[in-house]
Amino acid sequence: MATYIIQYERKGCIGAGVCAAVNPDNFVMNKDGKADLMGSELKDSNTMVFEKEMDESQLANAKMAAEGCPVNVIHIINKETGEKII
Ligand code: SF4
Repeated sequence: MATYIIQYERKGCIGAGVCAAVNPDNFVMNKDGKADLMGSELKDSNTMVFEKEMDESQLANAKMAAEGCPVNVIHIINKETGEKII
């Protein structure tokens, strides 16, 4: 089963809440009005980029979050090939 990386640029989040609504396994709204990618690691403190690995079983829901985000701050990358899916 392929492994994917969810990449989330928290700085750009406008708090629309779509991600938490369609993919509550990965995203939750924080009190500061922005989403949190649960269980993720901070990769870049300037841009507030967080990353988390997931397997293929989570891909469909994570894709819905990424596609639904109005400011495109959620991305999905195939860990093996490096292909950016969204
Ligand atoms: S959908 Fe995008 S803008 Fe809305 S809360 Fe999630 S990350 Fe933030």
